[in-house]
Amino acid sequence: MCTSSPPPRQTDSNKKRKISEDDDDDIPTPEITQMDHVALTTHSDAFGVDPLPISWGHPDPLVRGPVICTVRHSAQRNAIGAHSGSYCIYTGLAVAAGKLNPDFVPNFKLTTPVFKVGPHPSWNDPKKIASIDPFGHIVTHAYSKYLDKGFDIRPTIAVTKAHIDLPECREAIAAGRLVPDGKILLEGGQSICSKAAIEPVWYLPEVARRFGCTEAVLRQSIFRMTNGMYPELITRPDIKIFLPPIGGLTIYIWGDPDTIPDEDIELTCRVHDECNGSDVFGSDICTCRPYLTHAIEECIKTAQKGGCGIVIYFRKEGRSLGEVTKYLVYNTRKRQEGGDSAANYFNCTEKVAGVQDTRFQALMPDPLHWLGVTKIHNFISMSDMKYNAIVSTGIKIENRIEIPQELVPADAQVEITAKVFHGYNAGEAYKGIDENELNATKGRDYAYDGKEESPVVPASP
Ligand SMILES: [Zn+2]
Repeated sequence: MCTSSPPPRQTDSNKKRKISEDDDDDIPTPEITQMDHVALTTHSDAFGVDPLPISWGHPDPLVRGPVICTVRHSAQRNAIGAHSGSYCIYTGLAVAAGKLNPDFVPNFKLTTPVFKVGPHPSWNDPKKIASIDPFGHIVTHAYSKYLDKGFDIRPTIAVTKAHIDLPECREAIAAGRLVPDGKILLEGGQSICSKAAIEPVWYLPEVARRFGCTEAVLRQSIFRMTNGMYPELITRPDIKIFLPPIGGLTIYIWGDPDTIPDEDIELTCRVHDECNGSDVFGSDICTCRPYLTHAIEECIKTAQKGGCGIVIYFRKEGRSLGEVTKYLVYNTRKRQEGGDSAANYFNCTEKVAGVQDTRFQALMPDPLHWLGVTKIHNFISMSDMKYNAIVSTGIKIENRIEIPQELVPADAQVEITAKVFHGYNAGEAYKGIDENELNATKGRDYAYDGKEESPVVPASP
């Protein structure tokens, strides 16, 4: 299917106008797309006829080339998709509602990072970074010549700082596990951290390699399973960058980020996949929030010893199957014959979704490499999938820190028992879970009899 060749180069057309003619450097002149013209990207002269070259993995950002994925340069675009992940649809709504001028070009003055990240050797290795743009936070510096010339280039990473206030940190202070130092942890329980928000930027050849398929198969699968949302995946095999409409990730750092690449300085890390029900609302069916807040506590302790703690929060709700699928699975778990059980924990997801898990972890280590991580002293996770994914990219992991047993909610025993039986590593407290224990671990029943009732359907008028 991926056999169509790129359309012929187009020098100029009535749809575009050049805004600068001076040619005293290597920076091309931007061609600005007129917003009153709607062109289908499947038409041969409408999309990426003159894409700016990208040399993914090159250490010099100017040679690597800027990722052009804004609507103003349709001819010079070198990426499929749109900025801001799934939020790109809201931009469309804002324009439709007359609230946003489609010609708006952002002013990035004062938006640059508040602490330095990189460059690191890993930035030049596609096997280490292929799902984020390592220069995504320094666009305004690295590509200032492009911006000066009138290119609309967007940062895909923002780097800032925060004070965060969690009740669990206050409880840890009260219990004597955490001690305020007035610097990293304040008397009131607030901790001080640095953070970065990152949106995905995929280099398709390497993403395909990590998923063990050809690039053509990857492109066809995404095209097919999104009902053809991105025809350029098929029509433009020469365009290798894709900004997918999925959630990104957030990095929280306690301590001095400069210490992260130093293998002799302690580094504590958790990579956490979003679970809104537990993380935000405290649902007791899983261990997600307890794991997250336990990790934050360990990160603060490491930072207080002069090291660094990192939590990376991935928007991969419900094992990347989404919250609707997740709740459907909850109902299946609770209503099945014999009630919620560790023995059937994974089967239920597979019955509803056709697959146990779509998080995979092949792209997960990329933000660690972006930060320059080469060794993690304390890894806070029970997932061997995460552990193996990180170690296979060359990062060393010294210790695996288990979740204290008292932090596991009663109804989450089903989850943790099932996971440990299937090879997850939850440490000493959960060692030796056998089939008897698996079969004996049951969750709370629903308040009603557990039978599927007829849903309330509105009557016809
Ligand atoms: Zn959860």
